[in-house]
Amino acid sequence: MERYPLLIGNEEVFTSETMVVRSPFDGAEVGEVCIAGKDEIEKAIASAHLVFPRFARTDTKFRVEILNKAEELLGERAEEFARMISAEAGKPIREARGEVSRARETLRLSAIAASEHMGGKVLTLDSASNGRDKWGFCQRFPAGPVLAITPFNFPLNLAVHKIGPAIAVGNPFILKPAEQTPITAIMLGQLLVEAGMPKGTVSVLNGLGPSVGQPIAEDDRIKVVTFTGSPEVGLLLSRVCGMKLTAFELGSNSAVYVHHDADIMRAADRIVAGGFVMAGQVCISTQRVYAHREVYAQLIDLILIGIRVLKLGDPSDEMTNVGPMIDEQAALRAENWLNSAIERGAKILIGGNRNGTLFEPTLVADVPDYCELLREEIFAPIIVIEEVPDEGEAIARINDSKYGLHAGIFTQDINLARTAFEKIEAGGVIINDVPTFRADLMPYGGVKLSGIGREGPEFAIEHMTYWKNFVVHGGEKE
Ligand code: NAD
Repeated sequence: MERYPLLIGNEEVFTSETMVVRSPFDGAEVGEVCIAGKDEIEKAIASAHLVFPRFARTDTKFRVEILNKAEELLGERAEEFARMISAEAGKPIREARGEVSRARETLRLSAIAASEHMGGKVLTLDSASNGRDKWGFCQRFPAGPVLAITPFNFPLNLAVHKIGPAIAVGNPFILKPAEQTPITAIMLGQLLVEAGMPKGTVSVLNGLGPSVGQPIAEDDRIKVVTFTGSPEVGLLLSRVCGMKLTAFELGSNSAVYVHHDADIMRAADRIVAGGFVMAGQVCISTQRVYAHREVYAQLIDLILIGIRVLKLGDPSDEMTNVGPMIDEQAALRAENWLNSAIERGAKILIGGNRNGTLFEPTLVADVPDYCELLREEIFAPIIVIEEVPDEGEAIARINDSKYGLHAGIFTQDINLARTAFEKIEAGGVIINDVPTFRADLMPYGGVKLSGIGREGPEFAIEHMTYWKNFVVHGGEKE
């Protein structure tokens, strides 16, 4: 079994404490990773702190070339990365390939963010009452060492969404990946070193969140904490981060509304895709479906047709659509929530069975409003469908959530699309597609418990930099 090191300031470090990474599908050993202790944590922070002033002053061209080289290397190793993502995270291989190509795009977008958005702007100081004799401009400066904490469901692209912008602005970084998917992160760190990241700038530390992630987040030498994961951990980190710059990309129970005038075939097709991608373990997974009463029955029939052809099983199989959940505990939690809704009157329309980590794609109706299946983030291949009398009720139900990441509306009515956009409390409203749509260039993030801050390289640089003003007094003005 291959043993993977930590990366501390670009150096590979092997420690005596290790952890075996297992496939969520069959428990097979994927590899063994080294775990960071107090010494390794201190060395990684000290390295980032020491190298920061030098890395911050590198030319933009130099950092753009690193990002472009990394994108090229990732292209060459795309299949190797896809296979590792599939093995560690249990992601169907075809989806894993999609994640690698998105990560390449995120690297390209980071290079563009560096060259196009790191400049500043001229200040119209003579429009201020006290600015008559002044001129000046403001410019972005890198904020300092970044701690990037990532979840298991997109182990490559979500890491790149943090590291790409960090490199773009000139911040060294420490990546703390999810315990379940540490090898992809190490491979990414090694690739970035090979792409030319200066000595000291790249650290990847594995271990448990509370013992590795939290002490780094608390350290004063870390200036930016960017976290993607559960709301519980996000809230905890928001309390320990103090005056650091932060971004929190958290969970959701995303909803979609299908209006009576919608293209129902398309809606059904997209709902099946959006509800079961990565076995429903996506922050913008399609969880709650509200259908206008005129199309409710037809939509259910079409969704059932779509679900019946899905293949559940081995993520390395080219034909698999739905792989395992990340671990049995997660699958058990979803099963308990499903059972509790059934006891309260909900009806399973298809699926509902679990075998270890494999959970059948499931459609449920008549779920009472107070059940976890509607209130919480299910994070499993379960979709809840509900009938609504009109669009007003649909928008009210969509908003009746502690989360607000994305929402989808299927309609031909431009006025409804506009109203939904105005009224829905979320980071994005997607018309004629599911909330699960995301392009990596968008300012992506949520409101309410779904988090604060936006990712997408052009926008992520906002929480990785600070503005500095340059003001000059004097000189003749015509
Ligand atoms: P998680 O919160 O359990 O873990 C995420 C990361 O936080 C891991 O690296 C973990 O080790 C670390 N962590 C845990 N406790 C910590 C602590 N005390 N201090 C510092 N770090 C700590 O989440 P998960 O199960 O890996 O991922 C699922 C969650 O992520 C879901 O809620 C999902 O919606 C969310 N998510 C959000 C987005 C988004 O962009 N909004 C994207 C993907 C996933």
